Amino acid sequence: MLFLEAAPADLRVPVVDLEGHRLTPCSPAKALQNLVDGLADLDEAGVLHLRYRPLAHRKVLRQVRRRDGWTCAWCHGPGSTVDHVIPLCWGGRTRLDNCVVACRACNHSRNNALPSEFIARTGFRPTHPVILRVLAREQALLREAERSLRKRPLSSCTSKEEAQVWLLAHQAPEAGLKPPPPGPVVTKWKPSRHPFPELYLP
Ligand SMILES: [Zn+2]
Repeated sequence: MLFLEAAPADLRVPVVDLEGHRLTPCSPAKALQNLVDGLADLDEAGVLHLRYRPLAHRKVLRQVRRRDGWTCAWCHGPGSTVDHVIPLCWGGRTRLDNCVVACRACNHSRNNALPSEFIARTGFRPTHPVILRVLAREQALLREAERSLRKRPLSSCTSKEEAQVWLLAHQAPEAGLKPPPPGPVVTKWKPSRHPFPELYLP
């Protein structure tokens, strides 16, 4: 860890995921932040080992995109992002049964709101089976998601956001899951250039 603090900013630290897949190398500062956050380990050779599986995340994004095309599941306009129907901060998973394609406006304006709250606010009438399924059992699914989050290991997480939610839930289990207050959403993804981020990196 010490050598990372003293490393030149342009050094690239090799990164592998839990399954040993090599990801794009990152800066010393990013590597250090992951170590401090408890999301990675550094081996003697200076390779950063993530404790989660970002490649699995990317695979699901591709599958959702293939299933839903380019139509927003909320407003039925053109959609280019992937939205977690039960948000990650509530324990929602990056899985086909919890993700839909959404336009940026819907994805960003919904932020961490639950589907029922978003529909009440917007008057949208979604017909996507994934959203209808969640709406039908929203409270039960929320309880299930939280229970599962507390039981499953960090290695089940497929993105940094999910891993951060996992850490919070395990560091302060008595607090209960509480979404962060809505804030500006930053998207690194430029749909005109790449259909999906090349890699979800720390
Ligand atoms: Zn939309």
